[in-house]
Amino acid sequence: MSSATSLGKPIYLTNTKTHQKELFQPIEPGKVKMYSCGPTVYSFIHIGNLRAALTADLFYRFFKHFGYDVNYVRNYTDVDDKIINRANEEKVSCDEITKKFIAEVEKDYALAGMLPPTHKVLVTEHMPEIIRMVEKIIENGKGYTVPDSTGLDPTAKEVFFSIDSFPNYGELSGKQIEDLKSGARVEVNSNKRNPVDFSLWKPAKAGEPSWDSPWGKGRPGWHIECSAMACKWLGPKMDIHHGGEDLIFPHHENEIAQTEAATGEKPYVKTWVHNAFLNFDGEKMSKSLGNVMNARDFLANYGGELARMIFLGVHYRAPFDFNSTLLDQAVVNLERIYEAKKKAEEVRQKKIAVPDLKAEQVWGGFMIDCDRARAAIKDHYANDLNTSGALSEIFTLVREWNRCSSEPNAVNTPTAILAANEFIKVIEEEIGSVIGVGKLSAPSALAQLQAVRLKRAQNEGKSTLTETEIEALIQERKDARAQKNFKRSDEVRDELLAKGVEIKDSPQGTTWVRK
Ligand code: AMP
Ligand code: ZN
Repeated sequence: MSSATSLGKPIYLTNTKTHQKELFQPIEPGKVKMYSCGPTVYSFIHIGNLRAALTADLFYRFFKHFGYDVNYVRNYTDVDDKIINRANEEKVSCDEITKKFIAEVEKDYALAGMLPPTHKVLVTEHMPEIIRMVEKIIENGKGYTVPDSTGLDPTAKEVFFSIDSFPNYGELSGKQIEDLKSGARVEVNSNKRNPVDFSLWKPAKAGEPSWDSPWGKGRPGWHIECSAMACKWLGPKMDIHHGGEDLIFPHHENEIAQTEAATGEKPYVKTWVHNAFLNFDGEKMSKSLGNVMNARDFLANYGGELARMIFLGVHYRAPFDFNSTLLDQAVVNLERIYEAKKKAEEVRQKKIAVPDLKAEQVWGGFMIDCDRARAAIKDHYANDLNTSGALSEIFTLVREWNRCSSEPNAVNTPTAILAANEFIKVIEEEIGSVIGVGKLSAPSALAQLQAVRLKRAQNEGKSTLTETEIEALIQERKDARAQKNFKRSDEVRDELLAKGVEIKDSPQGTTWVRK
């Protein structure tokens, strides 16, 4: 590892290819080249796509935060049958569809607090590189052309990758060519040498976008785009390639075959990273099942930090069943962090601080807890980006902060101010920079979370009170207490609680939160 990086410990990442946690050793010390397969832009993305995008962002943030020089390429697939179908349905050009949805996805990514990658790449902007790569595969004897008269241009040819020319085919997915062959559907194009051979370039049909090529007017097969774009921006070899687990086969298997066939170098990718799928209430999310939750609705209702808390609260390789209980749990967890942070923000504002021997001991212990939490969080990250482990360390530290700061007189001391500063730094530096939660100022984050609670209560048809109604009831309770009418004051408290509002009395007055 380069001395420029600051993690200070070896990183182990699970490689899909070997199913093992392997020591991560970048091609060039201190540098990471990484590529993530982004969305096909013909509709809004759903929360499954968001999980995938947040996984890539997590890796990017992690390496950047610990001082690696990261070259991160993320693509938009803007040439695809689904785009063509949608454009035809809406009687607009493919370009209009893709431009619109790229802009929408960018909005979602910004709402989710994702960092812009080093390069955002589009298939339509890489046709010369794609064509060159297909030519190279043919020159190297691993691709072949077949006449195709079904398209616009009767002289156009389809180009296939010859799987039999690539002995390592199946090395990522573990699939055997023979099994694939027997399972292959009877293809329309019977000119293929092997039914498992896949298309590198296909002749365009009427109503489809097309590009001039040595094989007539046509468009690239799906898989070649990522190979060509990755090679252009990262070179023939990269450190990390990410995508959702559905892409292992055939997309990534084919990417390996094409790239290595074209460049003659291997391995194309050192570490294959795949996030597990996100299911919805126990079912695979799919448009045909009608159970797709659009990322925009989610982000607009709940915000980017909650999305991160939920989707990164689980290890990226663990299957994930999204349901509303998880959402409520994430609200509670994020509030725990921000309530503690709020108190720490108040403590560090204190002007008059009185030294106190007992408090110094308490905070001395807490400073040791902070150091321990920092080290443990780094250990979790270095262990295959174990974000749930990292978050659990923060919850332990929050518990310690709450315990220490409720000791009599402890918060009015100079050491408390130092401890509060350190506590905030641990949250912001160790969790905020990598997982992307905890960096907001506590009062505004807590206000947003209260708004989420209100929305959740409204969605579930629970009766809810406006802020003015709550304040009026609190005033009524105060008046009842002043008149020693404790029966009424208790009734008001119970009424508020029944409507999801909890009140807390303190020497500074009465405060309330939605629960
Ligand atoms: P697509 O637009 O379908 O190509 O998907 C874009 C990215 O989202 C790819 O990396 C997919 O593997 C990933 N993806 C799609 N559906 C899900 C899901 N339900 N859960 C997790 N990742 C997904
Ligand atoms: Zn791809």
